[in-house]
Amino acid sequence: MADFQLFINGEYVDAASGETFTTTDPATEQPIGEVAKADRGDAQRAIQAARTAFDEGPWPSMSGEERAAKLDKMAELLEANAERFAEMEARDSGGTIKKATFADVPGAAGALRWFARMARERPDEVELEGSPFPPSENYVRYEPYGVCTGIVPFNFPLLMACWKAGPALAAGNTSVLKPASYTSLTALMLGEIAQEADLPPGVLNVIAGPGGTAGEELASNEMVDKVAFTGSTEVGRRIMQLASGTIKPVTLELGGKSANIVLDDADLDIAAAVTLFGTFFHNGQVCESGTRALVHRSVYDEFVSLLVDRAGKMVIGSQMDFETDLGPMVSRAQAETVNRYIALGREEVGDPICGGTAPDGLADGLVVDNFVRPTIFSGVENSARIAQEEIFGPVLCVIPFESDDEAVAIANDSIYGLGGGVQTGDVERGKAIAARIKTGTVWINDYHMISPERPFGGYKQSGIGRELGTAGFDIYRQAKHVHTNPSTGRDGYMHFAALSANI
Ligand code: NAD
Repeated sequence: MADFQLFINGEYVDAASGETFTTTDPATEQPIGEVAKADRGDAQRAIQAARTAFDEGPWPSMSGEERAAKLDKMAELLEANAERFAEMEARDSGGTIKKATFADVPGAAGALRWFARMARERPDEVELEGSPFPPSENYVRYEPYGVCTGIVPFNFPLLMACWKAGPALAAGNTSVLKPASYTSLTALMLGEIAQEADLPPGVLNVIAGPGGTAGEELASNEMVDKVAFTGSTEVGRRIMQLASGTIKPVTLELGGKSANIVLDDADLDIAAAVTLFGTFFHNGQVCESGTRALVHRSVYDEFVSLLVDRAGKMVIGSQMDFETDLGPMVSRAQAETVNRYIALGREEVGDPICGGTAPDGLADGLVVDNFVRPTIFSGVENSARIAQEEIFGPVLCVIPFESDDEAVAIANDSIYGLGGGVQTGDVERGKAIAARIKTGTVWINDYHMISPERPFGGYKQSGIGRELGTAGFDIYRQAKHVHTNPSTGRDGYMHFAALSANI
């Protein structure tokens, strides 16, 4: 029996093949446990359970209030088990215990509560005023799609699982989730919460397994009605192709290379802190990280030296220590990818002005190859590959500009459009710039502040659709227009007769 099993139809089960894979703590490379490894057949089992729960179970016809009560219960249980979830999240992903405790677990519970509120407050049926064809009456019913799958990335496993399952379930759909293999544990643990909250079997299913098999099944199976994916743009493209076979709607939250603009009127000390937080939080493994800092030429040198000074104070070490700012990367492979980009940066730009080497002085037992120091390249051309490609690591490109127009042009010179910031002493000037940046979120004098109550998503190749906010609930329902002609006999008012008089 695997230490961590798949959650299908309300029960924990092994993969049909009995296969498992080992999940490790990336700081120490010590195993945490064996995880059941789902293949296509297991994915089909989970989809079938969700299909049956939707077609035959009580969930879709329950009232919004009843579904909301279940989601609120799940949030409450998550909070009651916060420490256990936070520790597992940090150990499995390498994200700091601080992040897990203050962002991941409360964020996941907050998302469930927000979507519970949506289930309560968003009406299922809306009467439409006036009539284009009097005396007909018209109304719209908002109905769930059916089986919704959610494929989530490694960087915020529990949070992304709740961003997917929360709105799907609140709207009356059933759900199958697949976390990334490096970080499957907390999403699988959601099954315990679903059991305790007494969710009907099959309403929530969670499987761990490779993207190329289990993941592809979730995106292509004809019993699936909608797919939501968060991950790289490359895999997002594949998800769209797979979903197109049966014209499934897709929500895609993809990569980014966001610009954080530091204007000449900003409080430079605060702007430097915001810039470092905006780039190095979770080792830069955040889709909307401000990995391009665009800095006004008149304050450039002063700002860059503040960045270097403060970056040098960031603490690298075990993710389980509350003092740590940067833990290990999620995996050896991710650390190697980041180091390859740092080597590329040396060729394109020259040596970084800080970082760029492995950290020294790590505690015994920590695997140094999995850690990357915060690294800053200065004087970067926006056309450089390190400024154009998503690195997904603690690497900041600093780029000078001369005017607001030029800052906007550089910010928009990207295939991505997910996040971004403007650091300024003049909020109105910040808003004028925000209006011109083609991106899904702009923070003025802030960064990374994401709430379930506000929409989140990308322009351009950063994605399709919005998660969170009211929009993030509404995309899990479709509108059915019902037109009622009160005339029941030949003597009634028949508009169609005008178009086809001979019937
Ligand atoms: P990834 O694209 O490698 O994997 C994401 C998920 O897709 C995993 O569960 C993986 O198993 C699965 N997968 C892989 N290949 C698949 C396939 N062919 N078919 C179906 N599923 C497949 O991404 P990652 O490395 O886990 O995460 C990092 C990426 O996620 C970055 O590009 C980052 O920007 C992005 N991201 C975006 C957002 C956002 O909201 N826009 C948020 C977080 C992360």
